[in-house]
Amino acid sequence: MEISVILGDITKIKADAIVNAANTSLLGGGGVDGAIHRAGGKAILDDCVKIRNKQGGCAVGEAVITGAGELPAQYVIHAVGPVWKNGRSQEPELLQRAYSRCLDLAATHGIQVIAFPCISTGIYRFPKKEAAIIAVNTVRQHAYKPARVIFVCFDQESYAIYQALLGVQ
Ligand code: ADP
Repeated sequence: MEISVILGDITKIKADAIVNAANTSLLGGGGVDGAIHRAGGKAILDDCVKIRNKQGGCAVGEAVITGAGELPAQYVIHAVGPVWKNGRSQEPELLQRAYSRCLDLAATHGIQVIAFPCISTGIYRFPKKEAAIIAVNTVRQHAYKPARVIFVCFDQESYAIYQALLGVQ
């Protein structure tokens, strides 16, 4: 398993699956969620609505998978991270679970290349370094080992944090 980090826009990544930092409604939102739905078109929202009608959205710490519409990726995995409150409301466990569920879905769909954004670190305010440590550890410790995991950072600060954690320049 190769783990890498890039600075850029996750909607441009040609992975088997890109991960969305979704919310429990699955109906889209701001940040990376808005960017994915804008770039991927209506097909992604249609798939999300079907899942919502069947299971009523997606709980915090869980993930669901849809097609990727017009994106270069094949699938979008919509993961719901926690909103940061005070660090004592199970935020770390819930963030870990969200990453882990993405890898569970990657395993069941035979996904070999998966790209993650920095889940919960935007509008949901999870501290960037703590979130990156959880992301990297969860990927390293998960039973499923895809060929390649790409962490896609959208800001220089997150990029530097991941580079340091992964020991790359
Ligand atoms: P959350 O609500 O889970 O915090 P956000 O979308 O607000 O989700 O932020 C999650 C992370 O995604 C942040 O680090 C933000 O900078 C980043 N982000 C926003 N747009 C993009 C994009 N197009 N590609 C990759 N990352 C993005």
